[in-house]
Amino acid sequence: MARWNPFSKSEKEPVEDAPAESSTTGVSSDNNQTEGDKPKKTGFFGGIKQALKKTVRVLNTDIRDLVKEEGRLVDDQFLEELFAHLIKTDMGNGPAGKIRDSIAKKYRARVVKMAEVIETAKETITEIMKQEAADIIMATEGPTVIMVVGVNGAGKTTSIAKLVNLFKKQGKSVVLGAGDTFRAAAVEQLTVWSQRMGAEIVTGRQGSDPASVAYKAVDTAVKTNADICIVDTAGRLQTQSNLMEELGRIGRVMKKVVPEAPHEVLLVLDSTAGQNAISQARGFSEAASCTGIVLAKLDGSAKGGVAIPIREEFGLPVKFVGLGETPEDFAPFDVQTYVDALFDVADDE
Ligand code: GDP
Ligand code: MG
Repeated sequence: MARWNPFSKSEKEPVEDAPAESSTTGVSSDNNQTEGDKPKKTGFFGGIKQALKKTVRVLNTDIRDLVKEEGRLVDDQFLEELFAHLIKTDMGNGPAGKIRDSIAKKYRARVVKMAEVIETAKETITEIMKQEAADIIMATEGPTVIMVVGVNGAGKTTSIAKLVNLFKKQGKSVVLGAGDTFRAAAVEQLTVWSQRMGAEIVTGRQGSDPASVAYKAVDTAVKTNADICIVDTAGRLQTQSNLMEELGRIGRVMKKVVPEAPHEVLLVLDSTAGQNAISQARGFSEAASCTGIVLAKLDGSAKGGVAIPIREEFGLPVKFVGLGETPEDFAPFDVQTYVDALFDVADDE
């Protein structure tokens, strides 16, 4: 299967066969952050920086107060205070502990400077979060089928609109499947997006079988030679085993049309849900064969560190982040850019 490099800026020439490493290192020049470069406030960096504003402000103010201009002696009290500040961002005890231990190992009984604390924190987090490229797994032939799953209100339907926007910018045609047949409003919401974005949509009556909507959507995508088919699903809890089983059934029905489908099962998590997002990730990744995570609502809270334990605990790559409510507020995820944004002290306005 080929891979779609979502960082590609070209509208007309999607990079379908980009080598895996190109999405993390060979990003477009706007986004490319090489060591020593002054970060730009445009592109992915600007967007994620803006979204992480509250987290960055809390983190940097805390660390600055802790270390002071002249630096700070690294003793047990300092290490304890540092840990307490780090976990406020929802990065979790594991990652915060690792940063504390790295600082202790390098600087114990010496005076540490702000820049050194930040450098160590960035190195430690980068190591924890490293992942394969964020590229979408693409079908080599026929439509690429993407299924979107998660709990109610996580941001599934909005993330689908954002994905359509990205694909459309690259000149790809999209068929949507309104697989959340549970609520009439959900079908309406997706229909409105499809009209705005110029994507075809397959719907079923309220209460109808979501697997049949998914089947028809994939079938329509094949018949119309569409590049992409994205199937929405009703929100469900990771603990509702019958509903989790239904996701498996939807996937199996798609296979009748396209044997490799779904090429991607994207789990949408609400970043503001904190520890709850982590248990959702656990439940869904076990039951729904997810292939990647969309971290929605990374804006809007001071808990933007939640991406760290999500990467630490699960083998699943974070593929996209939601940075607001409009279709433009979306970005492919890149670890280095995220870590740079989280600790960007150059100007935290
Ligand atoms: P679904 O139930 O999982 O389909 O969730 P929806 O896509 O309907 O989104 C639920 C609410 O979250 C809506 O009000 C969206 O506008 C909002 N939302 C979704 N993604 C984001 C995001 O990245 N940032 C913000 N701030 N709001 C979002
Ligand atoms: Mg929805």
